[in-house]
Amino acid sequence: MVMEKQLGSDTARSAASLQESWARIRGRLREEVGEVEYRTWLRQMTLVGIEGDEVVVNLPTRFLRDWVRSHYGDRLRALWQHEAPAVRRADVRVAPQPRGATPAAEDDAAVATPLQPGLAESLAPRTPPAPRANGVDLRGEWSAPLDPRFTFESFVVGKPNEFAYACARRVAEKPASPGFNPLFLYGGVGLGKTHLMHAVAWAISDGEPARNVAYMSAEKFMYRFISALRSQSTMEFKESLRSVDVLMVDDLQFLIGKDNTQEEFFHTFNALIDAGKQIIISADKSPSDLNGLEDRLRTRLGCGMVADIHATTYELRLSILQAKAAAAGVPVPKTVLEFLAHKITSNVRELEGALNRLIAHANLFGRAVTPDSAQEVLHDLLRAHDRRVTIEEIQRKVAEHYNIRLTDMSSARRARNVARPRQVAMYLAKQLTSRSLPEIGRRFGNRDHTTVMHAVSRISELMQADSAFAEDVELLRRMLET
Ligand code: ADP
Ligand code: MG
Repeated sequence: MVMEKQLGSDTARSAASLQESWARIRGRLREEVGEVEYRTWLRQMTLVGIEGDEVVVNLPTRFLRDWVRSHYGDRLRALWQHEAPAVRRADVRVAPQPRGATPAAEDDAAVATPLQPGLAESLAPRTPPAPRANGVDLRGEWSAPLDPRFTFESFVVGKPNEFAYACARRVAEKPASPGFNPLFLYGGVGLGKTHLMHAVAWAISDGEPARNVAYMSAEKFMYRFISALRSQSTMEFKESLRSVDVLMVDDLQFLIGKDNTQEEFFHTFNALIDAGKQIIISADKSPSDLNGLEDRLRTRLGCGMVADIHATTYELRLSILQAKAAAAGVPVPKTVLEFLAHKITSNVRELEGALNRLIAHANLFGRAVTPDSAQEVLHDLLRAHDRRVTIEEIQRKVAEHYNIRLTDMSSARRARNVARPRQVAMYLAKQLTSRSLPEIGRRFGNRDHTTVMHAVSRISELMQADSAFAEDVELLRRMLET
């Protein structure tokens, strides 16, 4: 931690206690916003000191300053006020980080250990599912096998999924607690719904093997129900289903339009909830958006806890890749992981697939993974995922960011405060789209392709020379990509 300013007449003792307060505040913030967000925005904060009724914090770039000011300014002030009641305001300023300065030690520890305990084991090559050490087989004919890799420990938490994760954890600890029953998880394909459900099932049956946990797809539910109808054993069907303690039904959207099955599901659902059993449902949409479900079922589904899993962010994708590469025990250069996290944005399943292909390739040919080999092995996948960012979007975001008019992107003005942002936009257009140099030039007020070329090399040079500038451009890129 760098103290850039002596704090008036304060003694060393109070400077030390200021640092203690600061450490507590950082800890709090980190808990509140989550690890990924903390690392992205807040980690580089340094405390300048308290000046009168104002606490001053530094960040290395204007972009970070603006972001932190608008998103965390109030929270910073409130937390400080709690520690030092005299503080009324919080100011965030820009100051380059002193050479060699590193974020506080606690941060480094957190960065260096992205893996939670148990991750390596749970991501190890697939072993036949169950029986696990304690021999849980999720009794009864009801449950589909659980994937041994899908545990809480192997689930990487970030902003897009932290709420769903917290809810799942909570349900695993205390099934059927009020407010969390049913737990309804929803989100797009490949974002971790099934993973979280299995994790709850593993956690519950690890803690209390006697609990009867049944996990099944909605499709399986329907299939069972129809077979029972056919063999006239619906009574048994109902009885045995109602004997479970925790019922998980995955991909409920499958029941849309299947009226008889919905009816049966509705009754089972009510009977279980009334008997104090936990229910967990997943679907690709929220209850209110699941058109084609009976209204009364929809209403009941939404009356517990509804948690959505959002699309992944760049940071989450990178953390997931780091965790999975580390667990596989194959060294993959950071640049390759970053490249994948940039390029493959659809869902975690595809991300995992790409990484697995690289690793398999490396093992097969006994060659290290490099940026070139990654391009080569994944070229088909990468083409399919070519970014869809448009030049207009880039121009708009960059103009907004540097506070210039959008029209200046194509104007003839050459003042530095306009020309530099324009070059940044050209640079990003080259990086993020597949447009050719002449095409990019045309979109920037009919400029020549050599102008674009010059912009690209100028911005690369500046990024090399000035790390604050580089970070600025990098953050713009991330915002455009996610
Ligand atoms: P869904 O059921 O939402 O379609 P899955 O749960 O099957 O998605 O997840 C797809 C794949 O991605 C699985 O292999 C899963 O382990 C992995 N995955 C998804 N989210 C995460 C995460 N946050 N951390 C680790 N792995 C994840
Ligand atoms: Mg699934």
